[in-house]
Amino acid sequence: MLQWIIFLITDCVRELVKDDDCTGCAGCSNACQRHALETVLSAEGFYRPVFSAELCCECGACVKKCPVLAMRAHSAPPPHTTRTDCYAAWSNDRETHALSSSGGVFSELSKLVLEDGGTVFGCGWNDNLEPEHMAVTSVAELARLRGSKYVPSSIGLSLARAAALARGGARVLFSGTPCQVAALDRLLDAQARDQVTLIDMICHGVPSLALFSAYKGWLFRGETVSDFTFRDKSLCLQTIVARSPSGATYRRRASDDPFFRLGYGNHLSLMKSCFACRFAAAPRVADITLGDYWGVPKESEHPSGVSAVLVNTPAGGELIGKLIASDAITLMPADLADISRMNPRTTGGEWSLPSRRNEFLRDVARGHSFRWFYWRWYAPLRAKERVRDALLGSAVFWVRALKVKKVFCFFRVLRHAGNAH
Ligand SMILES: Cc1cc2nc3c(=O)[nH]c(=O)nc-3n(C[C@H](O)[C@H](O)[C@H](O)COP(=O)(O)OP(=O)(O)OC[C@H]3O[C@@H](n4cnc5c(N)ncnc54)[C@H](O)[C@@H]3O)c2cc1C
Ligand code: SF4
Ligand code: SF4
Ligand code: SF4
Repeated sequence: MLQWIIFLITDCVRELVKDDDCTGCAGCSNACQRHALETVLSAEGFYRPVFSAELCCECGACVKKCPVLAMRAHSAPPPHTTRTDCYAAWSNDRETHALSSSGGVFSELSKLVLEDGGTVFGCGWNDNLEPEHMAVTSVAELARLRGSKYVPSSIGLSLARAAALARGGARVLFSGTPCQVAALDRLLDAQARDQVTLIDMICHGVPSLALFSAYKGWLFRGETVSDFTFRDKSLCLQTIVARSPSGATYRRRASDDPFFRLGYGNHLSLMKSCFACRFAAAPRVADITLGDYWGVPKESEHPSGVSAVLVNTPAGGELIGKLIASDAITLMPADLADISRMNPRTTGGEWSLPSRRNEFLRDVARGHSFRWFYWRWYAPLRAKERVRDALLGSAVFWVRALKVKKVFCFFRVLRHAGNAH
């Protein structure tokens, strides 16, 4: 019997490692005390656990802690969300607001925890300009975590570190994608969970990190990139800005950027599990969910962007209450349906799988240069869009022209009728 259970566990681990549903959240490798699972980057550019059978003691912790397997086993909603209150909000600190992706609410929540002596875990750029989860303990270091990085973050052992701190009674704030947050939640017992504020985001999904690496090489014709942001606010609220060590600058609206369009907007390189993601839907595991409030009502607009804030638990509500009391944020009630109107992932939403995604990711795995992707994939896509826009433009022109002609004829008929009388 015991032999059979052990066989089942190892078999599960292997199946779990191969599964297309894997989110790369690193919950399994953080649960493994024997380092038998390591989360590494696949050739397609997504984090995946790699299993070393010789180190495994078949304890089953990885299987127990995997949020995807847990979600499959119990179709019930996650245990921590009770109801969701929604707001439009932004930081009252102008600099924080300007340097954040949307309203800067993440930074204000983090300041509360840091000033209380706690630790904040979030995603920053490492020395190779790849996103990585890291811990900060002072407000001065918080800038490292600010800003959305629209590529997968390397979690390393951050989940295990955050869980260990919380078990020791420390205050912790952890911010990440909903799947990463679900992974940390599964590592916490009830007492440790009370020490942790979980913040997730309205999540579109993550594109291939391998494609992003190729893109970085393309930006300055092989020169390294010393500074990169997906969310500068200079040309529009989603401006991509990169700088090279020699002082060259690349600045483009995300909607005109080849990486953003190919990898993210067109879903060609999105991770498979992001297409029908259960973690990105309500009800959520996180205490607070942050996002962009696109299409915010006129009375709640701000030129530097507005955060959509979903308060999912009483603990989340308490923190937001503290921010209001200290006048750290401006906050207005909002409606969930209105937030999700232009942001379908607020309440779930599935993307349809592009028919050429597999072909595209095969090209990514082959390690082509971004210049190659530009001409093979991006230029034809842009050409098609230009033709479509031109056709659409001329259709609008003719509809308008016909309307004018109709009105003109109508007046002519009226005039004739008048003359006839
Ligand atoms: C991959 C991704 C997809 C997103 N998709 C949407 C969307 O479809 N709709 C929407 O409204 N909002 C989306 N967001 C959220 C949005 O971009 C902002 O993060 C959010 O509005 C909070 O902004 P802020 O100004 O409060 O804080 P900011 O300071 O801008 O937020 C930064 C926080 O995001 C975390 N973070 C940044 N990059 C990553 C990453 N790669 N992995 C894990 N955590 C990360 C950091 O830990 C930090 O806590 C997405 C964010 C990411 C990272
Ligand atoms: S069964 Fe235990 S030892 Fe083996 S990989 Fe999973 S967590 Fe690690
Ligand atoms: S815990 Fe996360 S990384 Fe590990 S198998 Fe499950 S989904 Fe994949
Ligand atoms: S869409 Fe889902 S699976 Fe993809 S990064 Fe976001 S939370 Fe994770």
